[in-house]
Amino acid sequence: MIKKIGVLTSGGDAPGMNAAIRGIVITGIKLGIEIFGIKDGFLGLYKNKIKKLNRIIVSDIINKGGTFLGSSRFPEFKEKKNRYIAVKNLKKKNIDSLIVIGGDGSYIGAQKLNEMGISCISIPSTIDNDVSGTDYTIGYYTALETIVKSIDKIRDTSASHKRISLVEIMGRNCGDLTLLSSIAGGCEFLVIPENKISKEQLLIEILKKIKNGKKHYIIVITENLYDIKSLAKYIEKKTNKETRATILGHVQRGGTPVVYDRVLASRMGSYAIEILKKGFSGRCIGIKNEKIVHNSIKKSLNCIKKNSTHYWLNLSKKLF
Ligand code: ADP
Repeated sequence: MIKKIGVLTSGGDAPGMNAAIRGIVITGIKLGIEIFGIKDGFLGLYKNKIKKLNRIIVSDIINKGGTFLGSSRFPEFKEKKNRYIAVKNLKKKNIDSLIVIGGDGSYIGAQKLNEMGISCISIPSTIDNDVSGTDYTIGYYTALETIVKSIDKIRDTSASHKRISLVEIMGRNCGDLTLLSSIAGGCEFLVIPENKISKEQLLIEILKKIKNGKKHYIIVITENLYDIKSLAKYIEKKTNKETRATILGHVQRGGTPVVYDRVLASRMGSYAIEILKKGFSGRCIGIKNEKIVHNSIKKSLNCIKKNSTHYWLNLSKKLF
């Protein structure tokens, strides 16, 4: 019978993490389970920053971006000796279950703790939507809203000056944020990691559009594919059209979570408690066709995220 559960947020923060913590705390308390918040992800677990949470602490956080528990990158957690200290800190407080909210890096940490005797459940939360075992991660839709609003603003100035605007979008190795924002933002072209092209090929695409009489262009590009500032100089030189690069950066991570993320996070948080109570461990939660599901963390880590990239890519090409 589970009496105490720990919760932490790890890796890149995402809007909706707070709603997930709230869902965990309220559901847990109702079932007579004590919930402990761990500060700053795996670093706080290692440093023993563990504090009991209550209903009041999680009041007024559902609408807040970021994570009130704090997050961190703590690569030292890859070393078993450090994880051993973390397990000892949990055991000292008789906490033998842990909910890890984060991306696939955090999933690895959770799986390793699971193998060391802590029952772990992970909840997918990252703006990048790059976690397998789920159609959507908490934070993805909020980031999309932020990006599309930024593209709308860039469009105003781009149209006034008849410019080419290159917009760099987050996502690491996953093009989902770029794909959906290109559709919703009415962009003229996109480049994503799943469909990389050289700067010469990109230039050919832009020249085609210029030939078709278009006067200004917004091109969205996933981060790490080019040096976008020098790409803008290259395109300006070759097209003779003013070209500007905008790196949206960390604004994409922040802000009030949209309704979809708050609801998704609340569902996933509550479900994490439910499945721990049923005796499951080493599981990651997902949403598949609008249904909340759970899968093995180990299996999810070993499989490539099967998403609908091709569908969205085909659609975006029809709309350019
Ligand atoms: P995300 O969870 O957003 O993908 P990271 O990849 O930075 O972010 O991972 C978050 C944290 O998970 C890391 O800082 C580290 O503490 C932990 N982690 C990542 N990889 C491992 C690993 N191989 N073993 C143990 N812990 C890991």
